[in-house]
Amino acid sequence: MIDIQNVRKSFGDLEVLKGIDLTVERGEVVTVIGGSGSGKSTLLTCINGLEPINGGKITIDGTEVHARSTDLNKLRTKVGIVFQQFNAFPHLTVMENVTLAPRKVLGMGRAEAEAIAEKQLRHVGLADKLSTYPSRLSGGQQQRMAIARALAMSPGYMLFDEVTSALDPQLVGEVLETLKMLAEEGMTMILVTHEMSFARDVSDRVAFFHKGVMAEIGAPDQLFGAPRHPETQAFLSKVR
Ligand code: ADP
Ligand code: MG
Repeated sequence: MIDIQNVRKSFGDLEVLKGIDLTVERGEVVTVIGGSGSGKSTLLTCINGLEPINGGKITIDGTEVHARSTDLNKLRTKVGIVFQQFNAFPHLTVMENVTLAPRKVLGMGRAEAEAIAEKQLRHVGLADKLSTYPSRLSGGQQQRMAIARALAMSPGYMLFDEVTSALDPQLVGEVLETLKMLAEEGMTMILVTHEMSFARDVSDRVAFFHKGVMAEIGAPDQLFGAPRHPETQAFLSKVR
């Protein structure tokens, strides 16, 4: 499980996470919503150790992420992250993009890495794109490749940061379908999204962030149907 306790994070004088508490159990899907600058992305980058924290503690399966003794490279193989902007290697094929980390980080042989990559690419609907270069893929296909690339590491957890926000509207659905499939398979995940109906559909719990504070968290029907915090109400009335 992912256990976040009283996490504080500042950039210089700006405190962007002001004591976040959140526990995500195995198999749970937690969606984070909230306005721009509320700290959503920062939370995800702290969870997989891309950013140091200034207080509190994040523990993943008993390993404290920010402890000096923690091997962050090893930890990151357990926690996949996919961002809004595609970050494929343009000079590598889809297959090469997906096999890169299993080979370099996990030390897997080519045949094994390719078998896993092919399975994951098939899973996200890209079985026919193995030898294609990323520039020849649509934005939706690129994001699905990014998801396959993360899954090829067999992570226990997945973090998704607005993975559909940069896509043309007609490409959003195919990526949301992929996320929904993972959720239904029982993947433990934390998703930041602006897709409210999707969040309501797939989440076990939805957290609303406001100015570095988790103002409210609850089941989707409660949070969307009867939000308690005035800021949640204000936010939802703007996005709907
Ligand atoms: P969100 O994802 O909710 O839009 P972020 O977590 O990206 O919010 O950002 C929260 C705040 O932290 C914002 O004010 C943002 O400008 C600031 N911030 C984010 N990353 C950095 C950084 N690397 N350096 C300085 N300030 C940052
Ligand atoms: Mg963000």
